[in-house]
Amino acid sequence: MAENTSNTDVIVLGAGMVGISAAYAARRRGLSVVVVDRREPGSETSYGNAGILSSGSIFPLNQPSLLSKLPQYLSNRHAALRWSPAWALRNPRWIAGFLANAAASQTRPRALALRGLINASLKLHRDWIVKAGAGERIRETGWLKAWRSDNVAAAKADQDALTDYGIKSELLDRQAISALEPNILPVYSVGLLHTETASVDSPGNVVKAYARMLAGSGGEVRRAEIRSIAPDGDGWRVVLSDGEVRARHVVVALGPWSADLLRPLGYRVPLATERGYHREFKPNPSRQLLRPIHDAENAFLMTPMEQGIRVTSGVELTARDAPPNFAQIDAVEPLARGVVEFGEQVGETWRGARPTLPDSLPMIGPAPRHRNLWLAFGNQHIGFTTGPATGEAIAAMIAGAPPPFDVAAFAPSRYI
Ligand SMILES: Cc1cc2nc3c(=O)[nH]c(=O)nc-3n(C[C@H](O)[C@H](O)[C@H](O)COP(=O)(O)OP(=O)(O)OC[C@H]3O[C@@H](n4cnc5c(N)ncnc54)[C@H](O)[C@@H]3O)c2cc1C
Repeated sequence: MAENTSNTDVIVLGAGMVGISAAYAARRRGLSVVVVDRREPGSETSYGNAGILSSGSIFPLNQPSLLSKLPQYLSNRHAALRWSPAWALRNPRWIAGFLANAAASQTRPRALALRGLINASLKLHRDWIVKAGAGERIRETGWLKAWRSDNVAAAKADQDALTDYGIKSELLDRQAISALEPNILPVYSVGLLHTETASVDSPGNVVKAYARMLAGSGGEVRRAEIRSIAPDGDGWRVVLSDGEVRARHVVVALGPWSADLLRPLGYRVPLATERGYHREFKPNPSRQLLRPIHDAENAFLMTPMEQGIRVTSGVELTARDAPPNFAQIDAVEPLARGVVEFGEQVGETWRGARPTLPDSLPMIGPAPRHRNLWLAFGNQHIGFTTGPATGEAIAAMIAGAPPPFDVAAFAPSRYI
């Protein structure tokens, strides 16, 4: 046996929201667990997101409205979606699949699947965040989507669509928006408050709190580069930069990096990245933002965070590691300043990558051609929200128990 080899029931690869959740859920079932990441838990995509625990994000980007907006997006100047022509030429199948899933006939099954995943996840978050001693980080203030134009019809259509799936929201006029957010300027005419949505003031620190909870329950959090995985008897051998781990079960929860590790095993996973950016700004103490605001027409979000106001951008479809292009975040910064007064930028502009499969549903389940290999990635725009139930479902399947929601639509075998 090589030096620094350990044995465990479950090794989870990746300590983002998904991986830490899978590890904690497995530990709660009495399994021995090691979770490995080259960085501190919650330092990548699960750090830089907008921190929204969204009840209503059941309609992914590829829905019928995407098709009607395509002519606007083709110009490549829209804040909601930029795309790299070179990347598009290299990924025609992903694009074709993504657009095919935007057909009206594909909306309902995917929305129902995501609703099950989201509902189960929100319950777990509300329980775990308190157990993890981070209960003060969650704000039950909802999430406001707001329109500058008098587009009552758009807000009402959103509300009707949500109501159809049992998700509550409130329609607001300019005065009601001012009453709700007294410190913003009166730029919005119409709003839709997602009343069952919560948010956190530091997504990275919430993952870290869950990781401490995992460690407190006997799980191991190990810092190392993951080099490869290979079948080993009826288990797995995971080669790390500082040794090896033998495990009965491997869970791949590497977010946007997940496909790389699976390629040598013969899996070609059609995982693309919808990149996004954030900038944080010193808040003005007398002009506090009370909840996340989504500017519907300009495709940016503003969330009050521990360090300041975080502004996040729309989607940039390009290679995960392509050089940054700050055009989208540059374009929305002045618009955000026109909503609420805030100070100078704190820290660097952050870039991240939402991991997305062509149907915008994550893979949650067993790899089709290898025993005891579990896939938990592709959580697109809502992985911070859906990490806990993704992890819980994987732990349940490992233990041979029923997952907390219907996982059929998330089967990895639909693509590999
Ligand atoms: C701009 C933006 C805003 C967003 N806003 C929201 C939001 O408000 N609400 C929401 O629910 N979701 C949001 N998301 C989506 C969400 O952030 C992601 O879906 C989620 O964080 C994915 O979590 P993960 O655990 O799968 O991946 P990650 O958090 O990226 O974790 C993967 C981990 O794998 C590790 N890793 C990779 N390769 C290796 C290797 N070889 N060796 C060791 N470690 C490795 C990485 O270090 C990383 O820690 C947003 C995303 C973006 C980009």
